[in-house]
Parts: sequence; C-alpha cells; structure tokens
Amino acid sequence: MQDKLTLMIPGPTPVPETVLQAMARHPIGHRSADFQKIVRRTTEQLQWLHQTKNDVLVITGSGTAAMEAGIINVLSRGDKVLCGDNGKFGERWVKVAKAYGLDVQVIKAEWGQPLDPEAFRAALEADSAKAIKAVILTHSETSTGVINDLESIARHVKAHGTALTIADCVTSLGACSVPMDAWGIDVIGSGSQKGYMMPPGLAFVAVSERAWAAYERSDLPKFYLDLGKYRKSAHADSNPFTPAINLYFALQAALEMMQAEGLEAIFARHARHRAAAQAGMHAIGLPLYAAAGHGSPAITAVAPQGIDAESLRKTVKERFDILLAGGQDHLKGHVFRIGHLGFVCDRDVLTAVAAIEATLQELGLHKGTPGAGVAACAAALAR
Ligand SMILES: *Cc1c(COP(=O)(O)O)cnc(C)c1O
Repeated sequence: MQDKLTLMIPGPTPVPETVLQAMARHPIGHRSADFQKIVRRTTEQLQWLHQTKNDVLVITGSGTAAMEAGIINVLSRGDKVLCGDNGKFGERWVKVAKAYGLDVQVIKAEWGQPLDPEAFRAALEADSAKAIKAVILTHSETSTGVINDLESIARHVKAHGTALTIADCVTSLGACSVPMDAWGIDVIGSGSQKGYMMPPGLAFVAVSERAWAAYERSDLPKFYLDLGKYRKSAHADSNPFTPAINLYFALQAALEMMQAEGLEAIFARHARHRAAAQAGMHAIGLPLYAAAGHGSPAITAVAPQGIDAESLRKTVKERFDILLAGGQDHLKGHVFRIGHLGFVCDRDVLTAVAAIEATLQELGLHKGTPGAGVAACAAALAR
C-alpha cells in the first residue's frame, strides 16, 4: 500500500514526523550565527548521548566515513592493530586498516558468536614491545545481531597502557549504554541513519584526549576526513566544509526527542524490544542466529530451519508492508533480521512478530499453536 512501508531494518531506521518537519525548511548560511547556535547545541547533545566530555565531531558521510576517519587520524604507516572480526562490519574494518597499509592482526569469532575478550587480553599482554597501537572492533555486529563485550575489551586495552580503543558503535549508540569516558574508549564512530532517528547523511566521531595525542603523530594521508580540521572548526561552533545543514536541523530535533525520553528509558525500551522479538521468535519455533545471551539490543537475527528466509521476508514485505533485513553474504537465504533500533515502539515489534507469524501460517509453515508468537511477544512487552 502506498506510504505504508514500515522499516524494520538496521538502518535506515524510521524517522519521526517532528524530525522530518524540522528538515523541511530552507537551508541557512553555514557561517551564520544562527547555524553556530545549532552546532553548539547539537555538540552538547552529542556529548550527552556519548556520555563524554570529549569532542564529538560531525562529518557529512555515512557511518563508514566515521570509522575510516577514526582509524586514519590516530594511526601511522605500518602501525600494528588488532581487529575484532565476527561479522560483516568487523571484516570491513580489517579491510579499511589494510587499505591504509596497517599491520593487521585479526581476532576472529564465528559469525553468531561474540568476540572473546580473553583473546584480546592474551594478545595485548603478549605485546611487551608495545607494538600494538590500536584495537578496532564493532560493538553491535549488525550482520549477525551479536553484541560484543566492548566494556571488557576496552578494559584490557587500558591495561596494555598505550594502545587505543577504536569502536564502531553504529548500532549500539542510542540502543544501549555506551559510556565513552567511563569505559575509556578513545574513538567512537556512528551514523545518523541508525540509533539517531534520522535519515542517512551524517557521521559522528568522538575522540578522546589520548586519541588527539596520537593524531599529532599520525602520518596516514587524509584531507576531507582530517579530524583536526573538524576539531578546530567545532571549537568555533562551525564546520570546515559545507555541512548537510538540513540534517543538522534534523539532528537537533532528534536529540531533543531523545533527551525528553531520557537515556535510561531509551535503553530500557531497546532491551524490552530485544526480549519481545526473541520471545516471539522462540514461541514460533524460529531459532535465533546470535548465541544465547549475546543478542544485540538493536537487531534480532533469525535463522529459520528448512525455510527460505528470503521468500519469508519478501512475503512479509508484500503482504504487510514491513521491511525486514535479509542475511548478508553466506547468510543470504538462511537468515532474516528484525531491526528494532531508534524510533521503534512496542506496537512496531508486536506487529512485526504478528506479520511473521501470519506469513508462516499463510505459507503453511507455521508449526506451533497459532498466535503463540504474538502472545509471547505481548507478554514480554508487558514485563
Ligand atoms: C550501518 C553500519 C555501519 C555503517 O554503514 P554505512 O552504510 O557506512 O552507514 C557500520 N557499522 C555497523 C555495525 C553498521 O550497522
């Protein structure tokens, strides 16, 4: 049906009417006092979201730009880095690090499993020469629906003494607590189309004091993504290049909505939706892809046995106008993913579970008691 599409993919995520309305105006000059006011306000709001006093810089780009900027601004040619890889995004940061000629040691886990913090501890403790300059990892691995233990891994990096923690928090920021300062994370990358309740187009990089010290030594090539330029401008409530002005209007509106809800309430809502999606799938008899107890608060990956996940997903889209995400790479056809990140309410999760259940029934694939998924989901939402 026209205009009825509900996005339940892990980005882009749904955008509230208030945020869309905020964007629907003529751009203003990016060197004007009015725009400076917006930069100042949104910078404070971004610090609130990251639970940090550090600089949080805004780049026009997608989440990958934030992570690439984070990597190339604090490292130098030939630097040794540890990269966590337990899915598509972990793989991507390995590729970026290699593209810039870094010496990459990969710490892998099977897709669906979390990274093992002990493996990081062992590699860092073995590095008595202090050759490892950074640990790069993904907090919420969107491709598999796994949340990694960033807090523990960052603690091991701190114990190493000199290495930095560079974290992809693209689908964890705004879904669960990512206290940058308390956990001692040095660089956090994120993107507007995920937990921010905004359209795609803005990327955010938070940078610690330790990371700025490394920036001074960094000799990797950079120009548009040179964070020093963004820092200098940000301290003057400005931006080095023409920013996506209307997306800044959206950013301020979205962060105001988030502040009105409150961090704890936002995290509780995402935890509730994870529990509800998991309970619904369990009751329908569809196994989860992520190892038990390691599911992301932003996304639930489901691995239906003996059912083509793609045709299930297509039918849900055609019959119910709900877009679920498919599996990536070798998971295509084997996994579908329910995004519950950002502007998502109980109704959305309940409806998605109901639509999946109804689709299975329609296709003659529903094995359990009709309505069991909806009942379990509703019970979890009521908790
Ligand atoms: C979406 C996403 C990104 C960024 O992807 P872009 O398409 O560049 O915005 C990075 N990491 C994770 C975990 C993501 O989910």
